[in-house]
Amino acid sequence: MARQKKKPEKVKSASSVVTRSGTASELITPHATLDDLKVAARSCRACDLWKLGTQTVFGEGSAKARIMLIGEQPGDQEDRMGRPFVGPAGRLLDLALTAAGIDRSEVYVTNVVKHFKWSPAERGKRRIHKKPRYSEIRACRPWLDAELEIVKPRVLVCLGASSAQSLLGRDFRVTQRRGQFVDSTLAPYVMATVHPSSILRAQDEDSRHVQMEAFISDLKKVAELLRSPSPKDKRAA
Ligand code: SF4
Repeated sequence: MARQKKKPEKVKSASSVVTRSGTASELITPHATLDDLKVAARSCRACDLWKLGTQTVFGEGSAKARIMLIGEQPGDQEDRMGRPFVGPAGRLLDLALTAAGIDRSEVYVTNVVKHFKWSPAERGKRRIHKKPRYSEIRACRPWLDAELEIVKPRVLVCLGASSAQSLLGRDFRVTQRRGQFVDSTLAPYVMATVHPSSILRAQDEDSRHVQMEAFISDLKKVAELLRSPSPKDKRAA
């Protein structure tokens, strides 16, 4: 008989903080390091998603990373392990980065929302991903802004429509503008592409291969940009 996955235990933090502003901004102290932020985010209750998730899944990577990849929210395995992009989509991302010639040490990975939003499957024990609401994205945004302020990536890549629309505007269409560098105040170079989980959902092996190649192609533009002797030339895109 198949063993059932053990339900993850909620990770307790020393003290949990409900904010007055309805955003995480009150939890962010001046001159905080990434480690400081990670610790502070453990007790965040700025929106109700802390009740659903096992734990806060903060960003990961070097403060000196030249590339920041931003997804929508942690998935099931990320929620259990407390680390971003460590599930199937994260493994696919790692493969794509390697194929594009990007060293993982150059990358900081995070999400616009730091808790896993899910609902139970109609049958079985699976936890089904649910799209975060605008109010939840807004509540969590100070964490991302603080990460951006510290890392100051040269290239920011939004992974998927939710990330792109929350950072580049609700009208942004990844289907139309993927792989293009767009004007933004968030970083010198900003691009959106698909979320690797969309490649995992491809209907068959052939379309998965095509989608993976397109994803690698987008990431190669980032790699080329970083190798460029004049990386400020946006026409390199
Ligand atoms: S999703 Fe973000 S704002 Fe909401 S409780 Fe978690 S860390 Fe705080």
